Amino acid sequence: MEIAAKSERNLTWHDMDITREVRADRLEQQPKTIWLTGLSGAGKSTIVNELEKRLFVYGKKTMVLDGDNVRMGLNKNLGFSEEDRVENIRRIAEVSKLMNDAGIIVLTSFISPFRKDRRNAKEIIGKDSFVEVYISTPIEECERRDVKGLYKKARAGKISDFSGISSPYEEPESPDIEVDTTGRTIDETVDYIYSELKKYL
Ligand code: ADP
Repeated sequence: MEIAAKSERNLTWHDMDITREVRADRLEQQPKTIWLTGLSGAGKSTIVNELEKRLFVYGKKTMVLDGDNVRMGLNKNLGFSEEDRVENIRRIAEVSKLMNDAGIIVLTSFISPFRKDRRNAKEIIGKDSFVEVYISTPIEECERRDVKGLYKKARAGKISDFSGISSPYEEPESPDIEVDTTGRTIDETVDYIYSELKKYL
């Protein structure tokens, strides 16, 4: 379906009196989107889960958007073609922005393999609200873990477009935080990210 040009759609943004700032003040926090990127099995979901628990304990109002969960709901009509991957990330970024507008701290866990898409997400969310966290666990370690058995399938040619194997993963050039989980416990990893995050929250 072709979307009509903006001028033909009769849309006008209505500025509301309860602003993003007012909502953030009410929740007594700085709403940010903490955007984790990295290969499958790098540790994103595990870290986001632990990190959210920590923020929660300290009274922060948070929400998690996680790869497969979003693909089973909001984005269940999307596949893994280039076009669908772009749309997947765009929708996640728009939802994150809405949640930030509501005052909530959002943690996202998506491979998000393309620089262009992460740049687009940052643009949608706003550069002051976007914290890019690169979980840089190398592919050898991710493949050794093979949590979901996906590397085995991808090596057997059963998954096309698998990031790091049959589809590229473009490393962030200047992430705000980077951590390689190899040889670190989950606690050590989360301690490190949490200490680095403090300056943004
Ligand atoms: P992703 O979400 O990036 O695909 P997962 O979190 O699903 O990755 O899987 C990461 C796996 O690596 C889990 O089985 C987790 O227990 C393990 N792991 C080992 N060390 C760490 C660490 N320091 N941080 C996060 N995960 C780790």
